[in-house]
Parts: sequence; structure tokens; C-alpha cells
Amino acid sequence: MNPLEHEKLRLQESETIRNLLKRQNTLLGNSLENLDHLIYLQKSINLLSLQEICRVMVEKLPFILSVQYFTFFLFDKNRRRLSLASHNHPDLEEGHSLYQNDSLIMKEAMNSGRYIFEQDFSASRYFLGRKNPLFSCRFFVSIPLMIENEIIGVMNLNDNQKGFYHVGDLDFALNVSEFVALSISNAMLYERAEKLSVTDGLTGLDNHQQMQTLLKNEVVRCGRYNSPLSVIIMDIDHFKQVNDTYGHQKGDEILLAFSAIMKKFCRSNDVAARYGGEEFFLVLPETHIKGALHIAERIREEMASRKFQSKGKEFNVTVSCGIAEFDADHMQSAADLIKVSDLALYKAKNAGRNRTIQGTADDLLNA
Ligand code: GH3
Ligand code: MG
Ligand code: MG
Repeated sequence: MNPLEHEKLRLQESETIRNLLKRQNTLLGNSLENLDHLIYLQKSINLLSLQEICRVMVEKLPFILSVQYFTFFLFDKNRRRLSLASHNHPDLEEGHSLYQNDSLIMKEAMNSGRYIFEQDFSASRYFLGRKNPLFSCRFFVSIPLMIENEIIGVMNLNDNQKGFYHVGDLDFALNVSEFVALSISNAMLYERAEKLSVTDGLTGLDNHQQMQTLLKNEVVRCGRYNSPLSVIIMDIDHFKQVNDTYGHQKGDEILLAFSAIMKKFCRSNDVAARYGGEEFFLVLPETHIKGALHIAERIREEMASRKFQSKGKEFNVTVSCGIAEFDADHMQSAADLIKVSDLALYKAKNAGRNRTIQGTADDLLNA
């Protein structure tokens, strides 16, 4: 090699090295910037409410990941449905949900447990030719969110214009998805624990404590707005005998059947609770005593006509009900209202059971 060729090669090599260093600096710069974003995201997303996490995600992720559209679906594995929990897509409706099978790309991402990345989604095999703008964008990444091999949701990044700018962007999006999955899983655990603490284990109704809290709130509301408020207390008749004759397990089955009847007659603002062993309670906001009587009677009649079977025998089980309406002039508290309904229930038992008796504030004076 002559000196001229040697010098040329040396210049070429230093140019290559310079370019490499430049590229490394860019990547390092991106990584540092991404690290900042990750720290920032971790601080803002580490929340205990799923709703709050969803709000933060839609506010920050499209910017941090530099994509136009972001959609996040929660997965209900029993119903195999995906429900839209957070998004910034102008054409998607709130509360949108679909079966897992209805989106090929999300289905495959979930089944394989790996992200799927398409630079031109409309030209990919996942495109079903739908009119829905979510399915007609160019760039599409679908990332399954997993906790210990269990899918909890799917995060999609879409863009009609461009894909990721840098090679590291996809890795970064995957890191972000792990953060998100952890935060969501924590929030779900927390919400489940919170729900358990206010729910009766057998029937899934509110428990005694929760019913007391909600009733107190309703009494305050009723005092403030002068709105009607009634309650029904229900106790299964001769339940001890039912247990003794047909067994405790049959008894549990009857408690479950009764709670299902209660739920059937409940409106969305009513509070249905298991008050104690075989005692149940309904709080009926915006309801006068006449309405309470109507509901109590329908529940009582439906229970009385229900046939149960055990040991080759068919039998009926009845309930007694006490009802009361809050009387702001003569009752001081939720405890007074419960007391009046309880006294009415006692009368219903004494009068022969399988009936509804209405109490009044006067009963408090004689108690
Ligand atoms: P009454 O008509 O006067 O209400 O009579 P009763 O037999 O229903 O009332 P009592 O208070 O004497 O008995 C209530 C029974 O309810 C006794 C208890 O073993 C049963 N019980 C309470 N909780 C449960 C439960 O979770 N499962 C079952 N199977 N039985 C329960
Ligand atoms: Mg009882
Ligand atoms: Mg009873």
C-alpha cells in the first residue's frame, strides 16, 4: 500500500469511527432521556386507583412514547372480553369492549405473550378491512401486559403518519409496558382487597359494616334534601330447623338463593346487605314506606314460592320482613331506623312468620 492509499484508508476509518461515536452519543442521549421519562412515569403512575392510573397513562404515554394514539384494554379472562380502559383515540367510544377473538392482532399478542409490531398495519395479515379507524392506521404495536404469565390487558400504540424514530423506541415502549403492568396489577389487588373488606364472603352482598356506613350516609342525605328513605330487614323463618333437617350445606344454598332474589328486586342505588347469619337488609333511598312494602312483599312471595330439594324431598322456606321509613321528626339516627324495622320484624315473627310488618317511630317509645 502506498502512502496515499494509506492516508485515504486512515481518513475513511476515522470517518467511520466518528459516525459510530455520533450514533452512540445519540443512543446514549435517547437512553438518558428515556430513563428520565421512566423515573417520571414511575413516580406518577404508582397509584392505587385503577381509574387514576388510566388517567395518567392517557395523559403521559402518547407524549413519552412519541406516538399519536394510545389505547389500553383491560382483559376479563372469564368472559374473554377486552374493555377499553384508557385511550386518546378520537373515534373510539368510552366503554367500548370486544371479544378477544374480534381483534386478530391483540388476540395473537395475548396468546403468544409477545408484542406484535407492524409498520403498515393496513397491509398486514391482521387487517380485517374494517371501517373502524382504529383498524386502518399504518403503524401498530400491540403489547400484552402480563403479571406472572397472566394477561391483565393489552396496550396498543398507533400512528397514521410514522413509526418509531429510533431503534431503541420499541425497547423503551416494552419497558414502559412492564411498569404499567405492575402498577395496574397492584391497583387491582388493592381494589380486590378493599372490595373483600366490605363484602360478605358467601353471598357477595355488602357486609354488616358496609351497610351501616352506607345507611348512615343515606340518613344524612335524607336530612339534607328531605328525600324519603326506607329500609327492609328480612330474617329466614325457622332456619335452624332447615339446617338441622337438611344440613348446613343446604342451608348455605338457601342463603345464596335468597340473596339472588334480593338482588333481582334491587335498583342500582339500593344497598343489599347480609346483616347477620340468616338476616338480610335492604336500604332503599328515594323510597316511601309504600314502595318498601311493595318490594318486601315481592321478595317474600318469590322466596315462599321457591321449591328447594333435598334427600328426595321438596320443601319451601319463608322469610319474615320488618319495614320502616325514616321519620326526621321522630328519629335521630340510622340506629333508630334499624331499631324500628327490627321491632317490626319481631312482630312479624310473633304474628306467625312469612309476612311483612310495618313499623313506625312510635314503636321506639314503647320499646
Ligand atoms: P326464626 O324463624 O325465629 O328466625 O328461627 P330461626 O331458626 O331462623 O332462628 P335462630 O336464630 O334460632 O337460628 C338461626 C340459624 O341460622 C342458626 C344458625 O346455625 C343458622 N345460620 C347462621 N348463619 C348461617 C350460615 O352462614 N349458613 C348456614 N347454613 N346456617 C347459618
Ligand atoms: Mg335471626
Ligand atoms: Mg331466622
